[in-house]
Amino acid sequence: MKKVIVVGSGAGGATVAKELQGKFDVTILEAGKEFHPFSLKLPTLETLKKTGLLFDEREIQLFFPPMRIRKVEEMILVNGVGLGGTTTLCTGNALRMDEALKALGINLDDEFAEIYREIPITTEHQKRWRNTTRRLFEICQEMNLSPQPTPKMGNYVRCIHCGRCVLGCSHGVKWDSRQYLEIALAGGAQLVTGCRVERVVVKDGRVTGVQAKKGWVRKFYPADFVILTAGGLATPVILQNSGIACEQKLFVDPVLCVATQWNESQQYEEIPMPFVVQKEHFILSPYFDYLSFFFNRAWKYPARDILSLMIKLADANMGSISDNRIRKTLTAQDKERLNEGVELCKEILHRLGAKEESIFLGTINAGHPGGMLPLTEQEAESFHHSRLPENLYIADATLFPNSLGNPPILTIIAMAKRVSKILKNPFSPRKRVFGEGNPSSGI
Ligand SMILES: Cc1cc2nc3c(=O)[nH]c(=O)nc-3n(C[C@H](O)[C@H](O)[C@H](O)COP(=O)(O)OP(=O)(O)OC[C@H]3O[C@@H](n4cnc5c(N)ncnc54)[C@H](O)[C@@H]3O)c2cc1C
Ligand code: SF4
Repeated sequence: MKKVIVVGSGAGGATVAKELQGKFDVTILEAGKEFHPFSLKLPTLETLKKTGLLFDEREIQLFFPPMRIRKVEEMILVNGVGLGGTTTLCTGNALRMDEALKALGINLDDEFAEIYREIPITTEHQKRWRNTTRRLFEICQEMNLSPQPTPKMGNYVRCIHCGRCVLGCSHGVKWDSRQYLEIALAGGAQLVTGCRVERVVVKDGRVTGVQAKKGWVRKFYPADFVILTAGGLATPVILQNSGIACEQKLFVDPVLCVATQWNESQQYEEIPMPFVVQKEHFILSPYFDYLSFFFNRAWKYPARDILSLMIKLADANMGSISDNRIRKTLTAQDKERLNEGVELCKEILHRLGAKEESIFLGTINAGHPGGMLPLTEQEAESFHHSRLPENLYIADATLFPNSLGNPPILTIIAMAKRVSKILKNPFSPRKRVFGEGNPSSGI
């Protein structure tokens, strides 16, 4: 059986591993380790905060290693490192967001239908919203903002609304990609953790495997096919280390929270992002921002007395990663759109009764990176960029043509399913994969 190496075990990686195991001999190389939810309780953290020792967002990694934090010019970037990738930190939002792919002529209806059969998706949580959430929802309705309860991945009948989704769900409610990973492993896939892939090794135009570091040891893992799913920040680094140039089109979906002091709102014990307002260039959603609460001095009130709305922006795809250094600034237009969001959030909070002087902002943070080797119409069938050796694929947000400004997991899974189908059926009309008329390079 041909060997496939999958790099990463997040949304994209776990999907291709599950889809390909059986037809291929799959090995998943994952830089991180087993994921465990953050265990410290809020009172302990509030005590720690009072000591003044929490001043840099990167400190969170000392307490919670699966959450990787990087600081770039104007914002912090967040991603997950460990089994399940960033899906273990997600708030469970499950939205289909493939308009830009449709515009390229890519129809993922079948893949989304599969996802809806495999992953439970529900708005059940709405029945147990806190009063403040209900009131915010009503205000958004009154303002004709068409708020929609957010579909969530998982079994939310058991959700206790602890509000800690981004710290990992200790109650087994939230779906994350480890569930697909388990299926792949049960089918015989191999998993190597603590294994950081540095580059793909290319010989005579074909990938022969990957070079990775496990602990201090550098090792070569041979493969017939390699699929990069290390996420929107790491996949471009692996490509560039391998001599494959990327586009300087990084987007990240920056998030800015607009908060107010609101006695006993207890939003930190509400499900995060219970509903969403879709605007042209951003979304709004209630969200208690732990990073701002711990590290931003403006967030000086007790957690139970803070109420916050998130703006998630579809930012310009202008940013780069080179020599492992990320460059990402907000354009004038990004800032203008964020300001528009801030004014709208303030209007909602004012209608609730918040005073202008009680409103404060959070720290800009972002966790949906992608776009550095975007699909174009030319790759709509093959999902394979001409810059890549014929047996190297990508199946993560690196392929997105532009920022979604919206939760990307479902769409990444759908793309990863399509890539898997292309590999499984190399001679289907969709193909153009292994070179027409060159079956010896196929499976
Ligand atoms: C706080 C937060 C909340 C979010 N909430 C939502 C949500 O509710 N809904 C939604 O749709 N999206 C959400 N997202 C975004 C979503 O989680 C990510 O966009 C998605 O998980 C990306 O999938 P991926 O497979 O591309 O990468 P990831 O899920 O990040 O997985 C990449 C994996 O590759 C591994 N890796 C990295 N480099 C290497 C290497 N060199 N070698 C080997 N392994 C490597 C990493 O350890 C990781 O396990 C959220 C993001 C954040 C930060
Ligand atoms: S609110 Fe708590 S129980 Fe519910 S999904 Fe999130 S972490 Fe799990």
